[in-house]
Amino acid sequence: CGVFGVTGVAEAANFVALGLHALQHRGQEAGGIVSYCPEEGFNSARRFGYVRDNFTKASLMGTLPGSIGIGHVRYSTAGSKGNTAIRDVQPFFGEFSMGGAAIAHNGNITNAAALRAELIDRGSIFQSSSDSECIIHLMARSLQRNIPERMKDALRRVEGAFSVVAMTRTKLIGVRDPLGVRPLVLGKIGDGWALSSETCALDIIGAEFVREIAPGEMVVISAEHGVESFRPFEPSPSRFCIFEHVYFSRPDSILGGRSVYETRRQIGVELAREAPVEADIVCPVPDSGTPAAIGFSHESGIPYGMGIIRNQYMGRTFIEPTEQIRNMGVRLKLNVNRALIAGKRVILVDDSVVRGTTSRKIKEMILDAGAKEVHFRIASPPTAWPCFYGVDTPEREKLLASHMTESEMRDYLAVDSLRFISLDGLYRAVGEAGGRDSTCPQYCDACFSGDYPVAPRDMIEKGFRL
Ligand code: SF4
Ligand code: MG
Repeated sequence: CGVFGVTGVAEAANFVALGLHALQHRGQEAGGIVSYCPEEGFNSARRFGYVRDNFTKASLMGTLPGSIGIGHVRYSTAGSKGNTAIRDVQPFFGEFSMGGAAIAHNGNITNAAALRAELIDRGSIFQSSSDSECIIHLMARSLQRNIPERMKDALRRVEGAFSVVAMTRTKLIGVRDPLGVRPLVLGKIGDGWALSSETCALDIIGAEFVREIAPGEMVVISAEHGVESFRPFEPSPSRFCIFEHVYFSRPDSILGGRSVYETRRQIGVELAREAPVEADIVCPVPDSGTPAAIGFSHESGIPYGMGIIRNQYMGRTFIEPTEQIRNMGVRLKLNVNRALIAGKRVILVDDSVVRGTTSRKIKEMILDAGAKEVHFRIASPPTAWPCFYGVDTPEREKLLASHMTESEMRDYLAVDSLRFISLDGLYRAVGEAGGRDSTCPQYCDACFSGDYPVAPRDMIEKGFRL
């Protein structure tokens, strides 16, 4: 998911809509905006589909007035999967004795089922099936006198990954979980401030990137006090999601002081060093494989070409929630550039192999078009474990790498060769010259290593085995 908030600007909802539009790659199922103005109080709009179709200037003005607002773009990882009900669309809103508050959450709460059961037992009435709603009910039960303190109370009970953007009548609040699994950044716009999942959404509204919210940090932004910083949690070493660098974030964003594009290009360079192969052309599986293919081509000296053309009017295949749509998706979205690849030995670079659906289809298409050889090079290690922190991976059994070795996967995909970047190679590409520190890994890489930095408590209770 993507979260965004802004305060201290005229027509805040317009800025939120633009910010969410720039974060659309983080969630395409639905979006919502909440704003506040003294005359009208809180207003909200929650819709299915793309931001650009739902939140136009005409539709916003008049309905979402005010100089403070937050928003959310949703992609379901918890709650009603692939079948989002409008009640599951964020931001969520709660009315407390000291006024209202709205929250937007990116990540996944790993003890949500346990919390929900406990809260329902004590009388909470849940409106949605979303894990994020727990935060509002925990806030309602807190005895603290103001909303930021209630949020601290609530979030101390929450386990897992959360980057939260929240608002009251006068305050914009941003929080990251102690490990900082999901991103969150602070921007300055005129006399106002913005919070965003990624820097690309600051760019679109002309805000200046100030800094990242630190893992375990809470910022409370108000006209009176500016940006106040708090540390509500026990300190712990950070474990940012390494897959944000590989796939999830936009290449024009800056993560951890590094250009995502440059990191992805560097992954391609590492891949070419680790797994060279003789061939005539390097082609990305667009768009997610593109920067890595550019790096691979540069390092290997093999020419780069667009052997696969993507229809720009399709969304991210992965994010389509049902298997059936996903299966069709490959052909709806990608087509082979025959003239370029006929008769050639082709290296295909993609960011990941999850179920193997994409790779299988693409290989068939490339061979049909007359390629002589097909070599897959993958910009992440084999995805062998599900993510429980906000990226929607299928159950373990459906992950190709959970039950196949690299050579078994090569046979299954029936390609001439298949190689994944090593975990150390990936760490080098994100700037860790010494590779992965196995005693205290610098990132979360659980989907590749099975090393979960937070025990996925709800899943373990459902029978998941580490
Ligand atoms: Fe990111 Fe993978 Fe960790 Fe999920 S399991 S947070 S996708 S690195
Ligand atoms: Mg892809």
